[in-house]
Amino acid sequence: MPVKHGQIFENTTAETDVIDITYKVEREIGASGVTNGAVILFVPGSTGALTTIEFESGVVSDLKKAIERVAPEDIYYEHNERWGDGNGYSHVRAAIFGASLHIPIVGGHMTLGTWQQIVLLDFDNRPRKRQIEVQIFE
Ligand code: ZN
Repeated sequence: MPVKHGQIFENTTAETDVIDITYKVEREIGASGVTNGAVILFVPGSTGALTTIEFESGVVSDLKKAIERVAPEDIYYEHNERWGDGNGYSHVRAAIFGASLHIPIVGGHMTLGTWQQIVLLDFDNRPRKRQIEVQIFE
């Protein structure tokens, strides 16, 4: 089972970023030459996450509002007392979504739905240079 490794980089703003990385993943798959297999995506760090969504400004706005309802930035977090970095909400939000995705590759493309894009979510309270690990399996 040959494995190809790549990386995707994104700069974030500390304002709950939702960044479409679909074309960058497709580019990695194209470069790998793999036509049938799977891709695993993983974002290292406990304040970033990956999911899929219809990447359209209305849905992105709805998602951000839902995240704010589920894990508001301005409530009490024990993490902030223990660590002092003020990003308790960031860790909780990231944990809910998870850090990885696993997507089949068929005929050289991911089996995403027509309106389904891959997005990096960044919840940290400071700008980050994120790297996403891309493992492509034949
Ligand atoms: Zn923290």
